[in-house]
Amino acid sequence: AAANDDIRRRIRTIPDFPKPGVQFRDITTLLLDPQGLQLSVERMLDQIAVPVDIVAGIEARGFVFAPAIALALGAGVLLIRKDGKLPGATIAEEYALEYGTDRIAIHADACTPGANVLLVDDLIATGGTARAAVRLLRKAGATVRQAAFVIELPDLGGAEMLRGENLAVTSLVQ
Ligand code: 5GP
Repeated sequence: AAANDDIRRRIRTIPDFPKPGVQFRDITTLLLDPQGLQLSVERMLDQIAVPVDIVAGIEARGFVFAPAIALALGAGVLLIRKDGKLPGATIAEEYALEYGTDRIAIHADACTPGANVLLVDDLIATGGTARAAVRLLRKAGATVRQAAFVIELPDLGGAEMLRGENLAVTSLVQ
């Protein structure tokens, strides 16, 4: 069996969500399974190749994996949220969606300059969300050298694009 087939088979595909023609990779089935949860966190930890002071998770599914990884590393957690949700002074970054744009934000004082930040999310597709997150973290003074995902959709080229931003990009299942 190929590597991480035990994780792959716990991910469910829902056709035509959120719109016709999209095959949505649903990780709720992976999370619900105790072994699925444990294996995915353990294997993400195995792929970490950089020093980590802070694990930054992207709302919302990145919030599931970031704290699990941070606890194992003795790191803190930084929340990258949809713009308008954080209470303090923020910096934001806009990114393109298929139709229109979206904005993500972090607290302006979320990380001390030079902090080693690991970016975490459940899935990378076009890479637009992750690239905006990396730019935001770097704007805040963070050193970002790796982005870790459970799932990568290689046909959309997001991981390749992110590697062009001088990052190690890792995923468990392609
Ligand atoms: P991108 O910006 O790379 O095109 O899209 C990635 C973002 O959209 C991630 O935050 C991810 O959670 C979400 N996303 C897009 N498609 C899927 C999918 O099929 N399954 C899941 N779980 N998340 C997706």
